Amino acid sequence: MPVPLTQRQLDALRADADRFIAELDEEAYLHFAGIKDTYDLVPIYERHAELTKLDTALGIGASVNGGRNTRELWRFACEGYLGNFVNQEQEKIAELEASLKATVDGEEIPYRNIRPAISNSEDRGRRERLERARNELTEEHMNPLYLRATQVVHRETGRLGAANYTELYRGFQYPLDSLADQCRAFLDSTERLWEDAGDRFFRSRIGLGLGELERWDAARVWRGVTWDAAFPKERMVPALEATLADLGVDLHAQRNVELDLEDRPNKTPRAFCVPIEIPDRVILVIKPQGGPDDWRALFHEAGHTEHFAHTSPSLTMEEKRLGDNAVTEGWAMLLEHLTFDPVWLEKRLDFPRPHEFAAEGATQLLWFVRRYCAKLLYEIEYHAAPDVTAMRPRYVELLSDALKVTPSDTDYLADIDEGFYASQYLRSWAFEAQLRAFLREKFGSAWFTRRDAGSLIRELWAEGQKPTADEMLQEVTGASIELEAVADRIREGLAAG
Ligand SMILES: [Zn+2]
Repeated sequence: MPVPLTQRQLDALRADADRFIAELDEEAYLHFAGIKDTYDLVPIYERHAELTKLDTALGIGASVNGGRNTRELWRFACEGYLGNFVNQEQEKIAELEASLKATVDGEEIPYRNIRPAISNSEDRGRRERLERARNELTEEHMNPLYLRATQVVHRETGRLGAANYTELYRGFQYPLDSLADQCRAFLDSTERLWEDAGDRFFRSRIGLGLGELERWDAARVWRGVTWDAAFPKERMVPALEATLADLGVDLHAQRNVELDLEDRPNKTPRAFCVPIEIPDRVILVIKPQGGPDDWRALFHEAGHTEHFAHTSPSLTMEEKRLGDNAVTEGWAMLLEHLTFDPVWLEKRLDFPRPHEFAAEGATQLLWFVRRYCAKLLYEIEYHAAPDVTAMRPRYVELLSDALKVTPSDTDYLADIDEGFYASQYLRSWAFEAQLRAFLREKFGSAWFTRRDAGSLIRELWAEGQKPTADEMLQEVTGASIELEAVADRIREGLAAG
């Protein structure tokens, strides 16, 4: 039987975890911002070896007695223990992604640029050739690494005292089963809506309906190229600054926020946020390219950035760095979804046909949420499966049922969000829909221009991740997280278009 740790031992581990996370974040920043080619996780794990030992995880586990902080530290130690076995694979996958190239139509394309190239190509045949080239590289180079990593993680989970990885997260009090019920209900209640709205939408954009269109066509449609002119690259950062200013935040005066706008060849094209020190050093990394997708990503990451930058320094390590990530994702979604809010569009941009674009945003949200519902149902099974290679057809089945577009079975290993992160996204969509409904009711449809709404939001940001998303929503609106609220939000957006 593992022995509970003393308070002093727990505090030392807590302090060590704080540095461990900061170093991992800094390394991720340097690599994905294109400042450093290699992604050196192993030396960081070596520096904090104590934290990722089996005995440490078991000792913290034995010390959990109802308190949330210790339970979060236990989850962190378990994830660290499991991470130890896969950091070499993760390093290799990141390096392969940065170095592999495909040759398509006589042209060499870096692996990380293939997906953007699919979205940007008007030629259907070329989109298919790009996707097939990507799948070949993934299958040959990455899938053996993903498979080994997942098998090792599943094997080692047993040593942490859980029957399987899904059970481990139930032990961390992840509401996986109640959320899975909500996912099934959401898929049911929006099935007809998706069949009608999705079909009509794809037909209007690309001349192909559900059942005819392939995933590379969907990627093209979601790129939203017809709206590019309305979302110019030069106006991204100014629009963000103005939006934050209305909420009472002066982006440029924030000494704890760094904006990395530099263009480097290996910089990941997608915006991301790295909270190296919370709240003292938060970096928002972007490679502005313009277009609706890029704007969404910027506003999403800005939501994380401001949440972490406003987090109270007096909270504990767990309340700042760990806790319920549906909270930070919820803030990210709140800002991201402004980019298809018709009132925001009219106010911030001289936007043509804002209601049409809002309806498109609602359609896309429906796609995302249905996709994540299917992913969560898949991941719950995947992480309890005795042999994951048998899950390949199940991935295709669940995803096609939800989307009516067939995914590539190549992705059955890679399309997994580590640590059931899909559940946080799903809950964050509900959090956003419910919080937005509350803000509109209390402050009006232009709530984002109201300083008192900004004050409330900044007060809530200061709470970091001390409360769960459910608790925070309860505190503000009196309701708990309901996925069906997202369906209501979507129906409203579609009706206005
Ligand atoms: Zn996010």
